[in-house]
Amino acid sequence: MKLSTERITARLRYPFRIARSGSSARADSTEIVRIAITLEHDGIVGMGEAVPVPYYGHTLESIEQTVASASDMLGDDLEDVDGIIDRLLDAFDDERAAVAGIDAAVHDWIGKRRGIPVWKMLGLDPTKTPPTSMTIGIDRLELLPEKVAQAADFKVLKIKVGTDAEIETLTEMRRLAPDKTLRVDANCGWPPEDIIERMQGVAPFELEFIEQPTKAGELDAVRSARKLAVTPLIADEDSVRPSDVPRLDGVYDGINVKLSKCGGIREALRMIADARSRKMQVMLGCMTETSLGVAPAAHIASLVDYADIDGHLLLAEDPFEGLTLKEGVVLPGDSPGLGIRQTSVPHV
Ligand SMILES: [Mg+2]
Repeated sequence: MKLSTERITARLRYPFRIARSGSSARADSTEIVRIAITLEHDGIVGMGEAVPVPYYGHTLESIEQTVASASDMLGDDLEDVDGIIDRLLDAFDDERAAVAGIDAAVHDWIGKRRGIPVWKMLGLDPTKTPPTSMTIGIDRLELLPEKVAQAADFKVLKIKVGTDAEIETLTEMRRLAPDKTLRVDANCGWPPEDIIERMQGVAPFELEFIEQPTKAGELDAVRSARKLAVTPLIADEDSVRPSDVPRLDGVYDGINVKLSKCGGIREALRMIADARSRKMQVMLGCMTETSLGVAPAAHIASLVDYADIDGHLLLAEDPFEGLTLKEGVVLPGDSPGLGIRQTSVPHV
């Protein structure tokens, strides 16, 4: 059994800016670096991708170290997903992006071994996958017409708000896209004392939901605001791993599950099942990652209400292929495992 990593690069289509803790930060770099994880055993190669999430303390180096240490912990039976993920999380509870990448490689390996796609392994039906949203980054208002035109294939647009210009941005968005479903992500940008006022401010735009209005942990403010029942509230930064779900019940209308945060498919399925048992809505998100990184989410996206798995579509070039975009829905393929093929040689 051999587990190895390789740094891969991809260029972003556009630099983008989001709000974080009330301030704006601009990601000017147009190049991203991700970790491709390769799992070789019995002549079968499983692959996964890990995305360092700085917000959760991950780095490229911490992912590489975690994967190197994980080699000895997979055991003899790669089909024992629960045992493998439990052992990895016991040892690397805070390195869930790395665990997610290994979880992806293990699922890919099992699917290839059995000759079936991961969605079939899990008993799922991709035709039930909801349309994904395309994210429109905060930028100068005069650039919005071009961005909205480029997102013509998508039924749902997601706008990053949480800045002083959000009303102007939403006004322009509604003018440009009067018939599309609009959802917004405040990315922790609303002060808790202003949440009700800000929710009332965006209510006329008939938003599908508001993602993470305040910074993580401001649950009292969110609980009070939700009582207004103006627009559904979805937790993102507050919703990291399965143990977070119970305390969000009664606070948010739903949770955003991201595999890089929670630790992969196994952990995501636990979060989804728990949220469903509490009658909470479920959104499935991703990071900016290649098709290899988005694939595990695409395979389980039929389980959720809202898909936001456009990470690979934000790249100018994708070193992998295997996902399709059909009428605004990101779909996994029918090939065994994650169904992802490499299209170009990774490099750093
Ligand atoms: Mg978010």
